[in-house]
Amino acid sequence: MNNNWLIKKKEGLYCIPGDFYIDPIYPVNSALITHSHTDHARPGNKKILGTSDTINIMELRYGNNYCQYSQKIECGKLLKIRGVNIKFIPAGHILGSSQIYLEYKGEIVVVSGDYKRRKDITCDSFEVSKCHTFITEATFGLPIFSHPNDIHETSKLIKSISENSDYCHLIGVYALGKCQRFITLLRKLGFDDVIYLHGALMKISNYYIDRKIDLGELRNISELKTSDYSNKLVLCPPSSLSDRWSQRFRKVIKGFVSGWMGIKQRIKQKNIQLPIVISDHADWNEILTTIEEISPEKVLVTHGREEGLLSYLKQKKVTCNALNLIGFEDEDD
Ligand SMILES: [Zn+2]
Ligand SMILES: [Zn+2]
Repeated sequence: MNNNWLIKKKEGLYCIPGDFYIDPIYPVNSALITHSHTDHARPGNKKILGTSDTINIMELRYGNNYCQYSQKIECGKLLKIRGVNIKFIPAGHILGSSQIYLEYKGEIVVVSGDYKRRKDITCDSFEVSKCHTFITEATFGLPIFSHPNDIHETSKLIKSISENSDYCHLIGVYALGKCQRFITLLRKLGFDDVIYLHGALMKISNYYIDRKIDLGELRNISELKTSDYSNKLVLCPPSSLSDRWSQRFRKVIKGFVSGWMGIKQRIKQKNIQLPIVISDHADWNEILTTIEEISPEKVLVTHGREEGLLSYLKQKKVTCNALNLIGFEDEDD
């Protein structure tokens, strides 16, 4: 990186003058957290700074060990840490998610965190912020990734439920963000039946409800005293689609809501009958549009398919480099 004040260390991205890390993968003294997915927000840091939703969700997930001290910051509010001006800006990824704006001696860097550009009523929309250097994620940074319309994808499930009423529909969703967004999409399409949740999805969903996000009637599947699951819609974590827990559902259609469901090989691998392609990340075109709108002097690419995006940007004469931060998985695709 040219910016000599923001560098990569083994713990993650480090701001030298501010003496803090962004989304560190190992515990550090001081961390700024873009959002509460487990690959970005890890427990055990001494001090953390994040939006109130990010910090509340971390506490909910990790308990007392979530950090020693936390500080909540409102999006758009300027804060100065040792001469570095800092702002959190909505990233449109999940509730509380943000980009981080850093300005030091007139040079502005924006760290995107994970982001998307599609409408999602469960969180604030991505905001374009002008900067000299834009650090973008590239989870779906290849031209083959073009996410379809989310309403159309959601309607595939509603259609399947109406056509296969003697089946249970068991749908894998990530616990934080995807689960709640998918429920709001189902509700938007007029699906007002009870939606049953695996116990592991209850806590975060209840947090969203507390934050006044309407998810309709949800029930923990363990409260259902029957072995007849026909005509029921059950959401569960992706890992539960094929574990012992899922064996109770005999006559079942299995689905998975993920950006990766656009890839045939993954559908087969996971033995999914109903792939639903909905992602909380920008697809190829959305990454390009975002870079165009921001039009930074320099783009740094991390977190995914760097090479494809870098070679495209180089062709377009955009100054760019790989940042290759490690430790970011697909918890949240
Ligand atoms: Zn991520
Ligand atoms: Zn994420």
